[in-house]
Amino acid sequence: MTDRLHQAPGMVTITWHGHACFVLEHGGARVIIDPFLTGNPTADIEAAEVPKLDAVLLTHGHGDHLGDAIPLATRDSAVVVAPFELARFCADRGAPNVHPMHIGGAHAFPFGTVKLVSALHGGAVEGDETGRYTTHPCGFVVTMGSTRVYHTGDTALTLDMQLLEGRVDVMLCPIGDNYTMGIEDAARAVGFVKPKIVVPMHWGTFPVIATDPEEFRRAVGERCRVEVLRPGQSLSC
Ligand SMILES: [Zn+2]
Repeated sequence: MTDRLHQAPGMVTITWHGHACFVLEHGGARVIIDPFLTGNPTADIEAAEVPKLDAVLLTHGHGDHLGDAIPLATRDSAVVVAPFELARFCADRGAPNVHPMHIGGAHAFPFGTVKLVSALHGGAVEGDETGRYTTHPCGFVVTMGSTRVYHTGDTALTLDMQLLEGRVDVMLCPIGDNYTMGIEDAARAVGFVKPKIVVPMHWGTFPVIATDPEEFRRAVGERCRVEVLRPGQSLSC
């Protein structure tokens, strides 16, 4: 963990706000992923305290990921980047600026490049009574400067992760089990991707996903550096 005041030029600062919510900062740009703050018992900040955003990235439409996305994107006129159907939902619900994408596609934004990669999870969108926004959940590889951050989204262990071997510096990986990978599969995922650093997420928010991140650290072993963050803590890479 590093103090952001000591961030070296060119590095990306990654701050965990609990659950699957991370803020990435680089070169004056700020991106939030899966901003579930309101109603998140482990969040260290309220949505209103999030500094001005350039983009809101959404891996899927469940409430613990969609969260405060639309109000934050509206507040800052930040672009919502999401799988096509979810981006359309956000636009229809008032987000002023959306950029629909889909699995396998990449796009260069002013803040960096975003690529959508496969994730195995449920596609329903919270608040959609029609079912017409049901989408395919994704993970993101976000490249800012020369740092490549892989947020897996909510997912099972999948062999597709092997396609990212050698292409990721920091992996943000669920370990809470029940809805996503648990510790054993998450450690195997780290073995597939071979990042420099892994940060566990999607654990401890609710009793059903309570787990011990130190057990994850032991399971990863020598495969890579494990940074166990607490909500509000950052690392730079
Ligand atoms: Zn989730």
